[in-house]
Amino acid sequence: IKKIGVLTSGGDAPGMNAAIRGVVRTALTEGLEVYGIEDGYLGLYENRINQLYRYSVSDIITRGGTFLGSARFPAFKEKATRQKAIDNLRQNNIDALVVIGGDGSYLGAMRLTEEGFPCIGLPGTIDNDIRGTDYTIGYFTALQTAVEAIDRLRDTCSSHHRISIIEIMGRGCGDLTLNAAVAGGCEFMIIPEVSYTKEDLIEEIKFGFSKGKKHAIVAVAEHMLDVAQLAKDIEIAVKHETRATVLGHVQRGGSPVPYDRILGSRMGAYAVELLIQGQGGRSVGIQNGKLVHHDIMDALSNMKRPFDIDLYNTAKRLF
Ligand code: ATP
Repeated sequence: IKKIGVLTSGGDAPGMNAAIRGVVRTALTEGLEVYGIEDGYLGLYENRINQLYRYSVSDIITRGGTFLGSARFPAFKEKATRQKAIDNLRQNNIDALVVIGGDGSYLGAMRLTEEGFPCIGLPGTIDNDIRGTDYTIGYFTALQTAVEAIDRLRDTCSSHHRISIIEIMGRGCGDLTLNAAVAGGCEFMIIPEVSYTKEDLIEEIKFGFSKGKKHAIVAVAEHMLDVAQLAKDIEIAVKHETRATVLGHVQRGGSPVPYDRILGSRMGAYAVELLIQGQGGRSVGIQNGKLVHHDIMDALSNMKRPFDIDLYNTAKRLF
């Protein structure tokens, strides 16, 4: 191969820029040309493709988001749309593509590979919900942001003897909530991997107050329930002022922490190595500290995301 493309797709994540830089600089070192595609699959379809040089990726390792831009482009599920994308890549003489994104972006990369255009997927999402990798690019930065938010809420809810509920992102994955809860010292949490009832939660909080607690913080993974309603129910049952805070997109921004920069750099370099070896349809991961690659379809359909039940049980014992 002589020319490779790189794009970021789906929700942005801190560290995507480090991954792009990893791809660009490694490829140039290996004597390849690199092309950046704007706004994910949308820009690929619209042929917005620009050559990148060493200095195109200067000063981006510290920046959150993705300088290439990202987009949701549902039309990419249609074969005709993807054919146009492949035609654009071929017109630009690009031989292979690195896709940085989440599950949906991986499916796009898989389809392109099946249709004759080799792609490698890198896990870029704060949710840590991708199978075949212990960590995704952006997760540790979002964790840092969530813990900082919990710390700030603690200051104010401790002064006012209040109960705080904080909704944390993660789509269907409780990693961000569980780890933020442990690091932020929250004893109460609701995550998708562990069944719960509102009644049990309220009983736990009541029990805490009966033991002399003056305030409480409850970490709730997004999409589990309506946190504003939960706040009302808890306030009535426990008879303590209760407020809900939804962290939202704040968790997606900010300068990436060192781990995400390093992970992005390593995975970007690894993707180029795999493409040079002629591999396609692979997703890159990190497992037990080592870079690995799996068949994208196998990762998406057959692999399970491990859940850290030990950490959950530890958290419950810190009550
Ligand atoms: P995140 O969940 O972190 O936001 P994601 O990559 O899962 O990231 P999606 O919006 O699900 O985000 O997917 C990103 C893009 O990938 C879609 O907008 C679409 O262009 C493409 N895509 C998603 N599913 C498919 C599919 N089944 N086939 C082809 N392309 C797809």
